[in-house]
Amino acid sequence: MNVIFMGPPGAGKGTQAEKIVDKFQIPHISTGDMFRAALEAKTPLGLKAKEYMDAGALVPDDVTIGIVEERLGQDDCKKGFLLDGFPRTVAQADALTGLLEKLKVRMQGVLNIEVDEAVLLSRLAGRRICQKCGVSYHMVFIPPVKEGVCDKCGGDLYQRNDDSLETAKKRLGVYHQQTQPLISYYQKKGLLKSIQGDQATDKVFEDILVSLAPDS
Ligand code: ADP
Ligand code: AMP
Repeated sequence: MNVIFMGPPGAGKGTQAEKIVDKFQIPHISTGDMFRAALEAKTPLGLKAKEYMDAGALVPDDVTIGIVEERLGQDDCKKGFLLDGFPRTVAQADALTGLLEKLKVRMQGVLNIEVDEAVLLSRLAGRRICQKCGVSYHMVFIPPVKEGVCDKCGGDLYQRNDDSLETAKKRLGVYHQQTQPLISYYQKKGLLKSIQGDQATDKVFEDILVSLAPDS
């Protein structure tokens, strides 16, 4: 299965990706996670990406397309993959279309997770991420059993720099300007499926599974 998760920051892409990976055992390719890992490792890519991430802006297309091209060429992607947070611009979507043709891979669908803006801001404000395994929690909506500690691996939870109110608002603006046009891009290709993201996580996942069923 080859799927793209689209949707604004805070829509629940990472949360749902974790469930998809558990069920289908396919790699979760999140460009945001890749940039954060590169930053943690202090590589030149990470340090370059940091400037843009801290400002709530998108990392330049050539850099982002390059890392995705390299990742999709790896062996584990032969069994399928879930792209999360890529593509985010028309140039990235065009590059992906070319890349998938080259790899002879067909997309099952582009799932657009929809959530109202006010809900997104409260989700981003309360988001906490596990330093060790990357699972995301919410202080109010999806709290860990023990405050500040990951239920799954015991790692420490942290707040992303770019989840501050000011940067979150900028990221939502960037989403509207640069990523939203991809909704009609994929609608025209007959690949777009809309998912109502403002529901309990298990219900969102159920809807995702229905939309991925072969005859839907
Ligand atoms: P994205 O990857 O799209 O930016 P996340 O999956 O990290 O979004 O979710 C953003 C925040 O919202 C996190 O704090 C997460 O725990 C929380 N969240 C995700 N899905 C839901 C949901 N269905 N209901 C309430 N909170 C949610
Ligand atoms: P995310 O984890 O998806 O919220 O992404 C965090 C940040 O990483 C974004 O605000 C961008 O700065 C950068 N980023 C992630 N994916 C992309 C992408 N496809 N194109 C450009 N920048 C990206």
